[in-house]
Amino acid sequence: MFPNPPWRVSDVSAPATFKSILLPVDLWESPASLKHLATAAALARANACPVHALTVLPDMVAIEHYRFAAATFDEVVAKAEGELRALLGRTMPAEVSWTSGVARGDIYKEILRTATERGADLIVMAAHRPRMTDFLIGSNAEKVVRHAKCSVLIVRGT
Ligand code: ADP
Repeated sequence: MFPNPPWRVSDVSAPATFKSILLPVDLWESPASLKHLATAAALARANACPVHALTVLPDMVAIEHYRFAAATFDEVVAKAEGELRALLGRTMPAEVSWTSGVARGDIYKEILRTATERGADLIVMAAHRPRMTDFLIGSNAEKVVRHAKCSVLIVRGT
């Protein structure tokens, strides 16, 4: 216990609100591991700020084509974009404005790049897939926390 605290909470000049939320979404995940969508929605509503949802297609073309039953990469992107928009449409409240995008490459690098590009001041992610309980945090979440220049909220499941 410090007898004379050197600062008070009211002295801290950090912004109390967020202006732009980046929401990375893994379309391969089960609904149970998508709780961070609800958290992002609640924060967007509380801060009256927009959400940008992002899905990254990793560089495994054959798997992507199989997953989306698509013949060309353009078709894969279009189907991923469609699924992402449908998911956001189901989970975001009407008063939250949101956009979506699909990127290709290393997942955590694309998340960091998009956060900078869109001026996000908060990234909301899940910790990991539910079955990966041996790990406290997944590899993409860990790398984003380590390297992001903005705040990162890691939403854990129950
Ligand atoms: P795990 O290794 O258990 O999947 P991750 O760190 O990859 O853990 O996943 C945690 C979070 O990372 C997800 O909730 C999501 O926000 C983000 N993420 C993972 N994969 C993708 C992806 N392909 N596109 C966008 N975000 C992703």
